[in-house]
Amino acid sequence: MKTKIENKNKTNWMKNFLIVVALLLVGFCLPLALTGCGQKEKMRNLYAIDAVFDDETKTLECSQEVEYVNTTDNALSEVCFFLYANSFAEWQKVVSDAYFDRAYPTKKQNFGGIEISSAKVNKMAANFEVSEQGNILTVKLGTSLFPNEKVEIVLEYVVKLANIRHRLGYGNNTINFGNFFPIACVYENGFVKNDFSAYGDPFYSEIADFDVKIDFPQQFSLASTGTILEVTESENERKVAVCKAGKVRDFCFVLCDHFEKKTQIVDGVEVNYFFYDDELWEKHLKTAADAVATFSDLFGAYPYAQLSVVKSDFCFGGMEYPNLVLIADDLNSEDVDYVIAHEVAHQWWYGVVGNNQFEDAWVDEGLTEFSTALFFEKNSDYGIEYEKIMEGATANYKNFLRIFKEIYDNFDESIDRDINSFRTEPEYVNHTYTKGMLMFDSLRKMLGDRKFFKVLKAYYEDFAFENSSSEKLVQNFSKHSHINLEKFFDAWLQGKVVFG
Ligand SMILES: [Zn+2]
Repeated sequence: MKTKIENKNKTNWMKNFLIVVALLLVGFCLPLALTGCGQKEKMRNLYAIDAVFDDETKTLECSQEVEYVNTTDNALSEVCFFLYANSFAEWQKVVSDAYFDRAYPTKKQNFGGIEISSAKVNKMAANFEVSEQGNILTVKLGTSLFPNEKVEIVLEYVVKLANIRHRLGYGNNTINFGNFFPIACVYENGFVKNDFSAYGDPFYSEIADFDVKIDFPQQFSLASTGTILEVTESENERKVAVCKAGKVRDFCFVLCDHFEKKTQIVDGVEVNYFFYDDELWEKHLKTAADAVATFSDLFGAYPYAQLSVVKSDFCFGGMEYPNLVLIADDLNSEDVDYVIAHEVAHQWWYGVVGNNQFEDAWVDEGLTEFSTALFFEKNSDYGIEYEKIMEGATANYKNFLRIFKEIYDNFDESIDRDINSFRTEPEYVNHTYTKGMLMFDSLRKMLGDRKFFKVLKAYYEDFAFENSSSEKLVQNFSKHSHINLEKFFDAWLQGKVVFG
């Protein structure tokens, strides 16, 4: 964090002049703040989580205080939270059959979940309910929360981890705490209540701030979102880590009792690689650093002080969180660079520019997969050619279509649909990733590089720390290219582009 701020402080007189102008503008805007001047930074939720991990029972006991801000235009009588931890409950299927053996180290299904024991609103006991599926917690406020007002919601809960190589769970090497806490649902004409899914990322959240204290047995070390301010040894052979993360849309941490950590600074960003059993650690750290440099150059600066690439027990290749990505420890060596580049690209498309990953998965996955191809184009020493990636993707998609059209009548070739409307994982991946990537490649060729990259940079800037969507992306790309791209996107997204 320090190096990044120092770099930014190397300002010349022009920047100082602009700061003075900006301050004058902010002063001018203050009286208009409630009606929306456009200059005022959006208010954010603050999550303060106090977590204690018991390695014997594999449970995480938490007290979570949320300073929730009503950024909607409506008075709210309740606030909803997404409970991803219940994906691991007995009544759910958290991985498809094809991934069963990779997911469960014991080859036996076992379960986890989250138990909410109490909720308080402004220090008073509050009514709450958990939906039948277990995915949504609703906390009744007992009063109306008007626009721009804040409320303090305190939740007490216990997360039970399953023995599964997943976002949330433990394997033989790491204990992963992805999506462990109740996170406020985004409000769009009501709270958006995503379902669980056995593949894809069913997540959608707003940018927020996090203060997280984690108490864990001393044999472990920690990788996390944000900055680890301090780790102190406490009584009973335990450690307490204090973490802080600003302007991120989620918080993840990983524990391991045999982590090694190596660091490289790139463009003022501390790029960390946490690993075990990796003779090629120098190569993989370099890939992560090259990816940060390449994407900062292509799309706009990485706006955080650190990024941690974390080798872990994970069954799906890789997973993105703000400032932290999981890289599966069972990847073939030739796939590791590709997965690192893909997950790092998500820091731009998912991390900084958000979207509903359940409803509009192509918005982040299509752009991220395309960005991965750009990474190899810009870094020819990796020996993977951009055009070869596109040719391979086209051949794969055609092959997939041929097989699936034989199985299913009226096969749906559209991209723009929610995760659970894809009947199988190959159908989901081939549309949102592969065809999504080919769509952006086609747009690039249509607009030409100069215009295309100008549009991409402008999109990143416009939606930084905000949420995009299918419609917003199409509108924004049209605006910055000065071409109405609705028909172009519609043809791809609705499956009208013919693959002969
Ligand atoms: Zn992805």
